[in-house]
Amino acid sequence: MIIGVTGGIASGKSTVARAFAALGIPWVDADEVAREIVAPGEPALAEIAEHFGEGVIAPDGSLDRRALREIVFGDAAERRRLEAITHPRIRERLIAHLARLQAQAAPYVLLVSPLLFESGQQALVDRCLVVDVPEAVQVARTAARDDVDEAQARAIVAAQMSRQERLDRADDVIDNSADEETLAPRVAELDRRYRAAGLPPSA
Ligand code: ATP
Repeated sequence: MIIGVTGGIASGKSTVARAFAALGIPWVDADEVAREIVAPGEPALAEIAEHFGEGVIAPDGSLDRRALREIVFGDAAERRRLEAITHPRIRERLIAHLARLQAQAAPYVLLVSPLLFESGQQALVDRCLVVDVPEAVQVARTAARDDVDEAQARAIVAAQMSRQERLDRADDVIDNSADEETLAPRVAELDRRYRAAGLPPSA
């Protein structure tokens, strides 16, 4: 069984994944795979340079994410072009990583992805676990962690899928608005259900 873990920026996906990992559950990070497939030497990077120009390649040969973001931001056609280059490769590599983990006989595995619903990766998982916090908490945690002020953090949150839309698509929800210690018993409860039943009853 594969559990998709998703949530908005700074909702606590990695924190939740680490809590499952402490119980022996392995996970694949879709963000990490998205970076892997555009590393120097990867065919996706060459295609990106071909389509978007050498201006998106940094002097050291890596992808200049900021330059690329500036091109695709607000340009739906260019964004779709970028996704057409990256999404199939991300998907292919996620499937390979997940298969490798499953071959290690884990009781179940996690696919942690900020864009589980938006990218079609939901099709790779049996069940979706949404990490949920109020938007004000997301904004505060983003501003505390990243190099952005609260207004910028609010704009990032506003540009993402809404909290309600995510909750509507969830099979299970984990509330991460309290401290990390509060998370542990809820993770343990979900872990028991995932191990026991293969598939737990709907949340
Ligand atoms: P992103 O997708 O934006 O990289 P994420 O959803 O994986 O983030 P985390 O990296 O787990 O989120 O957490 C975001 C920030 O919030 C981190 O700085 C983390 O330490 C903090 N954080 C997470 N959970 C809690 C909590 N329950 N209490 C306090 N701080 C928390």
